[in-house]
Amino acid sequence: MTVSIFYSPSFNDIPDSFDTFTKADEVAKLIQGLNNSSLALCEPRTATSAELQGVHDQDYLDALLTGLPLDLAISNGIGWYEGLLAAVSASTGGLRDAALEALASKADPDVATCNTGSLSSGLHHARYEHGSGYCTINGLVVAARAALAAGAKRVLILDLDAHCGGGTAELIEGLDGVEQLDISVNSFDFYTSREDAHLTVVGNSSSYLDTIAEQLGAIHQPEGIDLILYNAGMDPHEHASGMSGITTDMMSQRESMVFEFARQHDIPVAFTLAGGYTGHGLTLEEVAQLHMLTVLAACAPFARVSS
Ligand SMILES: [Zn+2]
Repeated sequence: MTVSIFYSPSFNDIPDSFDTFTKADEVAKLIQGLNNSSLALCEPRTATSAELQGVHDQDYLDALLTGLPLDLAISNGIGWYEGLLAAVSASTGGLRDAALEALASKADPDVATCNTGSLSSGLHHARYEHGSGYCTINGLVVAARAALAAGAKRVLILDLDAHCGGGTAELIEGLDGVEQLDISVNSFDFYTSREDAHLTVVGNSSSYLDTIAEQLGAIHQPEGIDLILYNAGMDPHEHASGMSGITTDMMSQRESMVFEFARQHDIPVAFTLAGGYTGHGLTLEEVAQLHMLTVLAACAPFARVSS
């Protein structure tokens, strides 16, 4: 089984870049350096205007294109650059393509279910009318909508980034077939849980993994899920801007737990990098190494094999 990892240098084609963009290049380098035949870097198709318009207000998209009005164009908290919209459209297209390929594997009885990924970041805080918290376009919701259009009946957005996915929660409200399970360690972008968007903010590192296990175990009829979109932020890690006591070993256990849960229920996972930052004790390569825990956990095969 080959795990397709969608990536393009266009994800980071902006001047004066920042972790949210630059780490895609670093993770891609690590993947290339592995020479692992189970991993294939694939060039995605960029997200279309229609896909972006399905999730965001036109005035906001115009601001991302032109830089005006400036307060709207810089609402992601990173700044505005010529080419920003093109870069985030490429990155959004990566997760959309990952979602569609993973979903197609589940639908085809002749192939094994397979996981995919995209080296995209900066998605889950973006709202209908503006960006937020380093997030510009909500690629999770773009990808979920594409999966529904391709025939998925039930898409789970699993958000284990350190911060809450309030942007996603806003955008999926009333969107039949999409639900979110969100376990955070920081209350930024907090929202009140609903039936289709469940949030837990963990208060202590010692209960982090147990809480994730409990929440995964509480998912209603997981065998009915067609696709998991996994926002696999590494920022819960104590040295990647997260919570004291959350170690690399715990993050590795988290990734094993998530992909094992999916395998048990024969659900394909399309993951995306999400948070994880330098400046808290880790270099960019060390942050990228943390994200490799997700990439490698995605490679373990499903039980169902090709007939
Ligand atoms: Zn985060």
